[in-house]
Amino acid sequence: PAFDGHDILPETRAFLAQSHRLLIDGAWVDGSDVLTTRDPATGLPLCEVAIGGADEIDRAVAAARRAFDGPWSRLTAAERTALLHRFARAIEANGGLLAELDILDNGMPRFIAELTVANAVEMVDYYAGAILRIEGTTTAPPRHVSAEGEALTYTLREPVGVAGLIVPWNVPFSTFLLKAAPALAAGCTIVVKPSEETPLSALLMGQLLLDSGFPPGVVNIVNGYGAAAGARLAEHPDVDKISFTGSTATGRRIVQAATGNLKKVSLELGGKSAVVVLADADLDRAIPGVAMATFFLQGQNCMAGTRIFAADAIHDRLVEGLAAFARGLTLGHGLDPATTQGPIISDAQAAKVMGYIDAGRAAGASLVTGGVRLDRPGNFIPPTIFTDATPDMSIVREEIFGPVMTVQRLTTDDLDAIARLANDSPFGLSGSVWTTSLSAAHKLATRIRSGHVSINTHGAVGTNIPFGGYGQSGWGREFGREGIDAYLETKAVTARL
Ligand code: NAD
Repeated sequence: PAFDGHDILPETRAFLAQSHRLLIDGAWVDGSDVLTTRDPATGLPLCEVAIGGADEIDRAVAAARRAFDGPWSRLTAAERTALLHRFARAIEANGGLLAELDILDNGMPRFIAELTVANAVEMVDYYAGAILRIEGTTTAPPRHVSAEGEALTYTLREPVGVAGLIVPWNVPFSTFLLKAAPALAAGCTIVVKPSEETPLSALLMGQLLLDSGFPPGVVNIVNGYGAAAGARLAEHPDVDKISFTGSTATGRRIVQAATGNLKKVSLELGGKSAVVVLADADLDRAIPGVAMATFFLQGQNCMAGTRIFAADAIHDRLVEGLAAFARGLTLGHGLDPATTQGPIISDAQAAKVMGYIDAGRAAGASLVTGGVRLDRPGNFIPPTIFTDATPDMSIVREEIFGPVMTVQRLTTDDLDAIARLANDSPFGLSGSVWTTSLSAAHKLATRIRSGHVSINTHGAVGTNIPFGGYGQSGWGREFGREGIDAYLETKAVTARL
């Protein structure tokens, strides 16, 4: 019954029956407490997981430091590449289990879980190869002459050291790998703090990394709460780097905590991305594309396009199409292949989403569809669309992280004015423009202030496409070459000849 009558793989059943501990220094060890992780589609418990606090983080960081100072740092890039390719094959071999762990723990529909497994394998292989192409430089001209005589300078790219990786719950193992793969490729050692909402797939990652031959202490995984384990990792004096994905509010705390030893910080934070649909857009493409820009992963997606700007001429047809599309989405358990919309991660998050919906109604936005929490077990909120939204409303200004779309009617076709509306947000993560005009598309793409702008699609991220935020959406980039740069230092070496 814990799986709502749906079959799961025997290996998933076996995984849930295991005792789940912390990975420190190459061994599975007890934590200081346990938490019960639940299936958000049913509210029923899945299993108990050991969690750690400051003490366990301290032990994990010490292990990571020893490993960093040990034989790991003498491995060649090619040797790390071989380990990572072996790890990618292990992910492939365990793809079904991995997908089911995130479906059960997070609630994501199966099609998304399967997509993230395929992308994950590609990403690990990509970073395994990328590290072989990281090169230093020589200064130009390579030899220089000073008062002391002739000298030669070249640069080396070196791992930043012990990296703390703090992961959210919305795409759990995918975000884990987006940090772990480039960090390990770069030669860092890592301490991972998964989200307390989704602790399971990280544990499988840990086992697969051990099985692939990563030496003890190179990978440490400490499940636990943000305020305890997460906060200790962020402030730890012997951690050289924090890579954090999560809310903007927590991102601020991470930055404050990092000031003690001025560790390097990368932040992938929240968003409230603009979606601009011009009068000449191909609505047959725009309607499903814009709907899924908001509703993919129940809107629990940092790059969700939740501020729709619709040209006056197509506004009503667009809204009608979006509403029909939204009503056609199938809410259900992620294990059911027919499901396109899973549950909200937790009761608290569902209550927060409903609070925004109530605030939207009270502020005078018009509810077109959705807007209620379903009276059934689990945290189900159907896709919700508001029109007559205005820039001052909280549903337009704040990240809801739920299936709530706001539509604003454009009363101008001046692209600068439209860009100003799109840019009226503290965030700047993603965004999209829907038009058949090449010129308008690229003009808006250059004017929208965000880390990614898509044309006639939305949020099409990929292994080699740098991704990150302008403004309060974050610092730095993940994916692609920049994703590995985040774990490398540059050293200049000068030799007097
Ligand atoms: P969150 O900030 O609540 O938690 C993220 C992680 O930080 C969790 O592991 C949590 O335990 C930990 N944490 C919480 N408080 C901490 C503290 N004081 N010190 C250290 N760690 C702490 O975010 P969430 O609710 O898990 O995730 C949703 C948020 O993540 C949304 O705002 C979303 O936009 C953002 N997100 C951003 C991206 C991106 O790439 N920009 C991707 C996914 C999610």
